[in-house]
Order: sequence, then C-alpha cells, then structure tokens
Amino acid sequence: MRFRSTRAPTNDAATHSFREAVFQGLAPDGGLYHPVETPDLRQPLENLPGPADFVTVAEETASRLLSPELDGSAVRRIVHRAFPFSPKLRRIDDSRLLLELFHGPSYAFKDFGAGFLACCMEELLRSDDRRAVVLVATSGDTGSAVARAFYGKENIQVVILYPSGRVSHLQEKQLTVLGKNITSLEVAGAFDDCQRMVKEAFMDPELRRRLTLTSANSINLGRLIPQAFYYLYAWLLMRPIPAERWFFCVPSGNFGNLTAGVYAWRWGLPVGGFVAATNINDVVPEYLEVGTFAPRPSHRTLSNAMDVGNPSNFERLQAVFGGDWRRMAAEIRGRVVTDEETLKTMEEVKREFDLFLCPHTAVGWLAAARELQTSSGPQKGEGEQAVILATAHPAKFRETVKDATGCEPELPEGLKEALELPKRSIPMEADLAALKRLLLERFG
Ligand SMILES: *Cc1c(COP(=O)(O)O)cnc(C)c1O
Repeated sequence: MRFRSTRAPTNDAATHSFREAVFQGLAPDGGLYHPVETPDLRQPLENLPGPADFVTVAEETASRLLSPELDGSAVRRIVHRAFPFSPKLRRIDDSRLLLELFHGPSYAFKDFGAGFLACCMEELLRSDDRRAVVLVATSGDTGSAVARAFYGKENIQVVILYPSGRVSHLQEKQLTVLGKNITSLEVAGAFDDCQRMVKEAFMDPELRRRLTLTSANSINLGRLIPQAFYYLYAWLLMRPIPAERWFFCVPSGNFGNLTAGVYAWRWGLPVGGFVAATNINDVVPEYLEVGTFAPRPSHRTLSNAMDVGNPSNFERLQAVFGGDWRRMAAEIRGRVVTDEETLKTMEEVKREFDLFLCPHTAVGWLAAARELQTSSGPQKGEGEQAVILATAHPAKFRETVKDATGCEPELPEGLKEALELPKRSIPMEADLAALKRLLLERFG
C-alpha cells in the first residue's frame, strides 16, 4: 500500500511508503497521510478459519495492507507484540452492544494505536539499525497510552511533555511511574506550551542534525491503521446480522477512531453506517447537517478527551468521500450530547443495567439511543442494532462516575499499581532551550 498527503492532488504520482508516513507523522505539505489504494479485505477475512480472534484478524489485515513493505514474519512479530489484549464485544440487550476497547495497558482505546505504532517503529528501526527519539505532548490520555506502548522498546527513547497541575492525579501517575526509556517532563505551562515546544524541537536544525526525532501523536498513520482492525473484528462477530440492520456509534473528538472505521468500510466491511457522537464540540455533526465546516476554539466538557474544536482527521474523511458532503452524510450521521445529558445517561445505565460507563462512552450510548429511536425507512426501525465503542474504562474517570451515579467503580489492578508507584518526572520551564539541552545531553 502506498500513501499520499490529503493536500496532494489525487493524481499526484509521488506517493509515500508506510515507513515514511510512520516516521514523518505529518506530510511535508502539512497534510495527513492517507491510503492511495482501496484493497478488498472482505473475502480474505470471511475465509479465515474458525471463530474470529483479534490477533488473527489484525495479522491478516495488516499483512494485506503492508506487504510487501513488511513481510509476513515482520507483521506477525508486530501484531503479536502489539496486542497482548483484545477488544470485547459485549451484548447489552436486543438492540445494543458495547465494543469494549479499554482492556489494554492504559485502559483506553488509544492502546491499540500506540501499541501498534511502537511495535512498527521498533521493527523498522531494527531493520535499519537506527535509533530514534519520540517526542509527545499530552494533556493526559495520549501520553499514558504512548508511555505504556513504548516502554522497554529497543532503540527508542520517549520524551513526554505534560502541563504541570493540569492532568488528573491518576493520569500523572500513569505518565510518570515507568522510567527506563520513558522520560516525563512536567512543564510549567499549559498543554499548548507543551505542543509548541514539541513543534519547535522538530524545526530546530541542530536537533534535527543530531537526533532522529519523531512523533507519536494521533495523526500518525501507524496509530490510525490498527484502529481499523477492531471494526473488522466486530463485523466478523456481527456477521449473522444483515449489514443494513446495524451500525457503529463512535464517541469522537479528533475523529481518528471514526476515520479508521470508515477506512474499514472502504476496505469491504459491510455495515449500515456510522454515528459520529460528540459533546458540544460539534463541528463535524454541524458539517454533516448543513455542509459547512466551521472550526472554532474548543469548550471544556466532562468527556474531555473529545474536546476538540478543529478535528485534524476531518481532512482524511474528506479525502475518503472526495470532498462530497452528500456522500459523507449518507454514511455518517452526527449526534450531539451535552454534559447534563452525559451525567444523566451514566446514572440511568448504572441503574438499569448495573453498568458503569466513562463519560465518553456515555456520549456514544445516548447518541446511539437517539439513532435507534428515530431510525425509519424500509430496512430500518424494527430490530436495528447499535455497536457502541466503549473508549475508556470507567475507573479512569472516577470523580465523574461518582458524581453521576453516587458509586465508585473498582480500580483495575494496573491502575492501582500505578497509583502506588512513585512519580518520576523532571520539572521544566516552558521553553525550547531547556528541552533542547535535555535532549542533547541525554540522547545526542
Ligand atoms: C481520544 C479519546 C476519544 C476521541 O477519539 P478520537 O479518535 O480523537 O475521535 C474518545 N474517548 C476517549 C476515552 C479518548 O481517549
């Protein structure tokens, strides 16, 4: 498979390898890498023997997408290392299923993308005998997934910048307790300062000369592709149900998760469409409704991993649908959920199903409920089903869960452990000079 920038003309002969896309992150023209080809994965996946298991689906998909650039044994090593955990498709009632994506090491779906990216980088660096420094700015969740995914990887040092005092206690612990090849910098500033420092570091000529700097942020193609695997896996489990009778509902912020689902659909996954569920940061639902895209500053909400006012993956969605609003709106319906509705949903679901939802998943739950209620047309209505993506473990958002339900979800072992270990972070001023000194001293 070859890749092209979303900003390049669609007949541009210059295409890029997976390796280039992974190590560059952003294309030189500022666009995002997206696949040039549209492989058909339906038949090969339907032909897999026995009941679907996630690693097999991942291996089959990845080898069809990435060969010959990565051969069969490289793909096998990558997926087996990347996914010691699986998604779980849990039936709730006649019309609802949860696709639980929070059984990985940081208890959120970002573990799928970060785990795969880390293993791809390790594999590609080893084959070239190179070393790299991964720089990430985080406001919380991305950093913990990246830290866990890259922990102990050969030839890779990870430097995570987070804003001091602006991540939750649990998030900070998840970011800082690991040590080894993970260095956590507690920056005296806001998330935007962290992001600016990372950007400046990438543009600094001396750093570029002396280090192989790379990023692991959510626009990286190496994080996006593996997210298609769990949609394909869920489809294999849903196969007895006709495609037009079920849909995916995706709690969305930067729209990487939904884009991966749309990729899977393009590659042959039969499904009756997608629901883009957002909090009040609703630029995409608005676009789907009226056809104009109006990015704006984000608002803070309880589902804070979805507080994005200018979702970068919108460019990739546009590329899939050739910039045609009608075509996109035919496959994706937008739904917006407020904080008040999120809390009410969390309370109702706990009462009715004895089930804790994280606030992001609650947004998805209510969006799906609305979609199920209003579905109409010949093949809709009776018997329609929603597969709702559960993006984080409820215990990661204990305060909100407690406010909504009056009860506290139990902490899983891995989170208890993180809370007990000592924080190891390096305080840093919010300027490039300090970051540069540290990078050159330690890794130059
Ligand atoms: C990142 C995140 C999201 C949003 O995913 P996007 O791919 O940015 O749309 C939703 N829920 C949780 C828990 C997240 O961490």
